[in-house]
Amino acid sequence: MDQQSQKAHILIFPLPIQGPVNSMLKLAELILIASQGQIQVTFLTTIHTHTRLNLHAKAATRFSGYPSFSFVTFPDGLPEDHPRGGDKFMEMLNAVEGVSQPLLRDMMLNNNSSHKNDDYPITCLISDGLFHFAVDLGKENGIPVIYFETMSLSCLWVYLCLPKFIEAGEVPFQENEGMEAILTLPGIRGLLRRCDLPDFCRANNSSSETMIQRIIELEKQYNRASALIFNTFEDLEAPLLSYIRAHHPYNMYVIGPLHLHLKEKLLELEATKATPPPSTYCSNSIWREDNSCIEWLNRHPRRSVIYCSFGSQVTLSKEQLIEFWHGLVNSGFRFLWVKRPRSVIGMEDDVHNKWHEQIPDKLLKGVMKNGYVVTWAPQEEILNHPSIGGFFTHSGWNSTIESLVAGVPMICWPHYVDQLVISRYVSHFWKVGLDMKDSCDRVILENMVRDVMCKRKDEFLQNANALANLAKQSVENRGSSCRSLDMLVDEIMSFRLPV
Ligand code: UDP
Repeated sequence: MDQQSQKAHILIFPLPIQGPVNSMLKLAELILIASQGQIQVTFLTTIHTHTRLNLHAKAATRFSGYPSFSFVTFPDGLPEDHPRGGDKFMEMLNAVEGVSQPLLRDMMLNNNSSHKNDDYPITCLISDGLFHFAVDLGKENGIPVIYFETMSLSCLWVYLCLPKFIEAGEVPFQENEGMEAILTLPGIRGLLRRCDLPDFCRANNSSSETMIQRIIELEKQYNRASALIFNTFEDLEAPLLSYIRAHHPYNMYVIGPLHLHLKEKLLELEATKATPPPSTYCSNSIWREDNSCIEWLNRHPRRSVIYCSFGSQVTLSKEQLIEFWHGLVNSGFRFLWVKRPRSVIGMEDDVHNKWHEQIPDKLLKGVMKNGYVVTWAPQEEILNHPSIGGFFTHSGWNSTIESLVAGVPMICWPHYVDQLVISRYVSHFWKVGLDMKDSCDRVILENMVRDVMCKRKDEFLQNANALANLAKQSVENRGSSCRSLDMLVDEIMSFRLPV
C-alpha cells in the first residue's frame, strides 16, 4: 500500500432521524475543516433522509464545497408514508438495523479486496451509539469504531450505573415510589429521584426488560470501542466528566456544542480564506422550515414570546395539546408553537389548517390572538431571536444544548429515555428552568410560564447566560472543545489499515 492509499477515510453512520443526522453532519463538517481535507468522509444514511436533506436543507449544495465528502444511501425498506418516528420508532430502528448491518459488513469487507471509484479504504467507523452491532462489525474487519453519543453525559452516567440501581432495588420502581431520591448514583448523589430516571426504569413500562438489557450491554460495547464522542462541553458537566474519566477507561472526546463549534470554525475560515465557506447557519432540516415565524417574531418585544417545540419524535394526544394551549393562552404570553405533521394523534394534519375545526372556538380565538403555529421552524435561529424569552421543550439533548447556547430558560415536559434525566438537570443542577415531568395540566403550565417569563426571569436568565458564555469559551481561542476536536482528528489520522 502506498502513502496515497493510506489517507484516513471515516464512515459516519447516524440514526436516520432529525437530531442525530443534524449533529453528525455538523461533526462531519468539523472534521473536514479541522483536518483541512486530509480526512475523507462518507456519510451513510437512508434514501428517505437524504432526499429530504437535499430538498429542505440543500445538503448537496452545501457539501459540494467539500471535495473529500460524499453521501452513500440505502433504502430502509419502509413504505414512503411511514412516519419513521414517534410511536413507530422501534419499527424504523429494526428496519434500518436489518438493512444496514449486511451493507456495512459488505462495505468493510470490500476494503480488503478491490476498491471502487477513487475512494480510499475505510479506516474508521463513527457510528451512532444505538447501533450496538457496529463494534462487532469493526472488530470482524479490523476497523476501529468510535461511538457518537447523542445524549448528555449525565444520562450516560445514569445508564452506566443501571446495574447498581437494580442491585439496590431502586429499579424497576412502582408509580408510588417515584419521588424517592436515588442514593446509589456516585458523583451526583441525591440529585435525581426515581421518576427522573429513563422511563424504562418504571415497573409499568412495557419495554422495561428489553431496554434494561440493551443498556446493560452498553458498557461492554463501549469497552470495545476505540473512543466516544459527545456533543457537550467540559464546563457544563465537569464534575461528572472527571468522575467518569476516573472510573472508566473510555477515551472521550467532548467537542460540543457542535452547532456553535461549527459556526466558530466557519467564521475563522471566512476570516482567512479568499473563497467564502458555506453559510454559518445550517439547520440540516428534514422538514420544510416555515420562515414566516421570524417575521412574526420581529413584531414582538424583547423576551416576550415563548417558543414551544417537542422535537422530531414526540407525539401528543389531542387532549394534551388542548390542555397545553389553554395553559399558554391563560398565561397571557405570546407563543410560537411547532405542530409537526402527524405529531398530534387523532388530529387532522395541517393541510389547509383543518385542525382548526378540532379546537374549541374560544380556545382557537386565544391561540389565533396570542400564538403562531408552524409545522417546522428554523429552531437555532428562533432560539437566538431577541423576542424569545423561554422554551417549552421535550428536553431532547439537541434542543437543550441549543437553548443553553442561546441563553434561553426552559420549561421541560420530557417524554421518554434521556429526556427525563435532562429535565431534572435543567431545573436542579444548571437551574435554568422548570421541570413539569409527569403532569399535563393547564394551571401548572400557566404558572410555570409566568415564572420563567416574569417572576423568576432574572434568576434563570443569569444562570443561562453564564452557561452560554462558558459554551462560547469552549469553542473559541483554543477552548476545551477545540482541543478535543484536534485530538480526535489526530486519532482518526493515526488509524491505518493493516498492509
Ligand atoms: N428542530 C428544528 N425545528 C423544529 C423543531 C426541532 O430544526 O421545529 C431541530 C432542533 O433544532 C434539534 C432537532 O430538531 O436540532 C431535535 O433534536 P432533539 O435531540 O432535541 O430531539 P429529538 O427530535 O431527537 O427528539
